[in-house]
Amino acid sequence: MAKGNLLTGIQDQVFTAVRKAQFDFTKSDRGVHFHATDYVGECARNMYYSKAFPIKGNMDTNLMTIFWVGSAIHAACKISSEQKYNEFGMMYDIENNAAVLELGKVDGDRPFDYVSGTLDDLIPVKDGLKNEWCIVDKKTWRSKGWKKSSPSVDHVKQVNIYKVMLKAATGIDAKFGAITYFDMWQDGVNKPQIFPFELDPIEKTRAAIMLRKEEIKKANETGILPKRTIHWKCNGYCPYAERCFSEEKVDKDLIKFDSVVKV
Ligand code: SF4
Repeated sequence: MAKGNLLTGIQDQVFTAVRKAQFDFTKSDRGVHFHATDYVGECARNMYYSKAFPIKGNMDTNLMTIFWVGSAIHAACKISSEQKYNEFGMMYDIENNAAVLELGKVDGDRPFDYVSGTLDDLIPVKDGLKNEWCIVDKKTWRSKGWKKSSPSVDHVKQVNIYKVMLKAATGIDAKFGAITYFDMWQDGVNKPQIFPFELDPIEKTRAAIMLRKEEIKKANETGILPKRTIHWKCNGYCPYAERCFSEEKVDKDLIKFDSVVKV
């Protein structure tokens, strides 16, 4: 074999090994249990589909790169000076408004009652003369050149859910949240955009979680899909659109939600 071809063969093997390592690094094992990020979308029907009929193995390398760099930033950028408040894993019993202290130890007969999540960082801040807490979440994205003028609504909701879970787990009532965006476009990683905001009252967020949980639970019991929420995702961003606009009910016996909830 000519030397050039031999090296080309090695190049392909190294390329495959690099891609495999990147995909392995970004692998998530959330299964079908409920995570805080599941509760942030506007459409309950989309949430139900994503758990009942998860789509796996369709990530392209562009999306993978965003997750890959994001995972590396999370691993390397520990904002909280207190180790315990960096990558703080939580599990919350929605029905009883209580933390599950032994993560993963849940009542298997009520899988819909739990939500898990990992808060990136909790840091002390000064609000004037008062000491407060701020939940910081790190996000990676690719801007293609434009700057954000505000944080994503879904990201703000996610941090609000973390506030509820944090209060149940530690008693800390965080007053502020902040999303830190690392832009994969050009030198954007070097210029993170930070959007702080005041968090909602716990009861407001808790009521929204309760309502959504009941919608999903009812859909699972009856097979009747939650109502559609028509919004921007319906135009090209929902992978369930074909199903959504052609059915109102699914065969509930085909769907099995995990009774084991992992963080
Ligand atoms: S197409 Fe729209 S309404 Fe239907 S599940 Fe998706 S987001 Fe919801």
